[in-house]
Amino acid sequence: MVCFATPTYEERSLASTELRSTIGGYPIKYDGDCDGVTSDAAHPFHDSIVDKLDRWAGATNFYASTYGGLYLDWIGHLGTYRDFPGSPSWHYTARAWDISKIQWTNGASVDICHGAHASPERKKRRQYLAVEALLRRHFRTVLNGYYNAAHETHFHVDNGCELEPMNTSLTSHTLFMQLVANDLMNKSLVVDGVWGPATESAFWEMKTVLNMTCLHPRNNVSHYVTLLNYIARHGFGNHSLGVYKYPLCT
Ligand SMILES: [Zn+2]
Repeated sequence: MVCFATPTYEERSLASTELRSTIGGYPIKYDGDCDGVTSDAAHPFHDSIVDKLDRWAGATNFYASTYGGLYLDWIGHLGTYRDFPGSPSWHYTARAWDISKIQWTNGASVDICHGAHASPERKKRRQYLAVEALLRRHFRTVLNGYYNAAHETHFHVDNGCELEPMNTSLTSHTLFMQLVANDLMNKSLVVDGVWGPATESAFWEMKTVLNMTCLHPRNNVSHYVTLLNYIARHGFGNHSLGVYKYPLCT
């Protein structure tokens, strides 16, 4: 696992960034206070992050349309670059992005800014987790609505650490798997980000129902990505895990 030193306020820089008003060909719209889109202005994205995000947006449209009949219209966000003092942050070099809304062409959305992570509608929570699964194919650091109060309005992603397999010692990775177990397997795990026996047991059951017992997402990035792909399929399709099974583990 490779992580880099988080930039400080004094190290803020827009070097190696590109101004973008689209990601993956889809418009991005600024929604800074969650009161509605205030701007469709271009924002700086660090060169090292923009290609990952382009591919994520394309995959989001592909999976959502193929499995859920939903087509991506635009992406709401809370910004990339930050120019005010605070904790060390990848936002100081525009290597982070805060995603607040996934707007579909049919008028529906995953309204992250207004608490999609805790929506009373399971279908919405499943879409939220599908979006998160596809982010996790590219980013080791994805902070969701359960990570802390500051992230209840957006997914934070950054590439301060290189992609690695599922890491059960990371709160953010564990929270995600607990949520998937609850919303896509009807488990009732405590969503605390701590990998304990109940989470371990649910994880094995998850691999079993997906016919993935020969895969090792904790040791192998491509196995982890395969698992994430299947979570995204089921999430957008609004299915419990097991409708789609991995064909290669006997
Ligand atoms: Zn952020």
